[in-house]
Amino acid sequence: MQETPEPAASGPVMIATWPFGKLAVDAAAEKVAAGGSGLDGIEEGIRLIESLGSDGSVGLAGRPNAAGYPQLDACIVEGPTRGAGSVGGMEGIVHPITAARRVMDSSRHVMLVGEGARWFALEQGLETVDVSDLAAKKAAWVARDRDPEEPAEKGHDTITLLMLDGNGDLYGGCSTSGAGGKLPGRVGDSPILGAGLFVDNEVGAAGATGVGENVMRYSATTVIVEMMRQGMHPQEACEAMVHRIAAVDPLGYQLDVCFIAIDKQGRTGAAASNQRFPFAVGAGGRSEVRSVEAVERP
Ligand code: ASP
Repeated sequence: MQETPEPAASGPVMIATWPFGKLAVDAAAEKVAAGGSGLDGIEEGIRLIESLGSDGSVGLAGRPNAAGYPQLDACIVEGPTRGAGSVGGMEGIVHPITAARRVMDSSRHVMLVGEGARWFALEQGLETVDVSDLAAKKAAWVARDRDPEEPAEKGHDTITLLMLDGNGDLYGGCSTSGAGGKLPGRVGDSPILGAGLFVDNEVGAAGATGVGENVMRYSATTVIVEMMRQGMHPQEACEAMVHRIAAVDPLGYQLDVCFIAIDKQGRTGAAASNQRFPFAVGAGGRSEVRSVEAVERP
């Protein structure tokens, strides 16, 4: 069971995926300490990871798709207003998390994808890169893909950041370039509300990383939040979700999924199906990287 962090009154309590999540937690804490809202904190923390291209899996430095260029997914949720915005399969925008926030703040919609998401982000004046070289990148990728010396560009990760702020409100966000080598147009779990991220301001928030297909087929983060609503500790709920999927999925525990969660009391949890899963927690102005081993199989 994860140790219960400091009470929310001492500032935001956060949990984030992977060791790079610590950078996001620290940046978010700094933003909130400087007077930003919980949502500002989430956006700031995730923007940092997008800028760093951490682990080659977030932002434009992330892993390319099968055609050789990154298509980005992101999502942001504001618990107290029940607001949400997301973008899927978007090309050439430096900060997908900000695009997601603009969808929430400046459109009547929740989700925009592909060309439309890019057009909206450009119309909002967001930072972009030239994407006129996508055809050339595709050609280079095809050549590379045929070279037996070149390792396949597989792998994937997501920055997912969850926060309970000092007012007891919940926020969440996530951003990823998705699964390396994915088909162009593939959208993962991250921008799908209730799959890669779910926030319920009455109960808690949950987020995911790993093979998105194995998360979204089970609306995993919605179910984790519902389990917390029924009284489960976030740790129990994350583990129960892994077991629940593994019990019925043809892959069993070979799911490559990891979950994080936080509840309204600021208690946190994390679980992984079949690997060691490092994640970051922050509370009371301090942060650290922790890890869990793959869940114990029954
Ligand atoms: N969930 C992401 C996706 O499938 C990748 C990851 O988090 O590893 O797009």
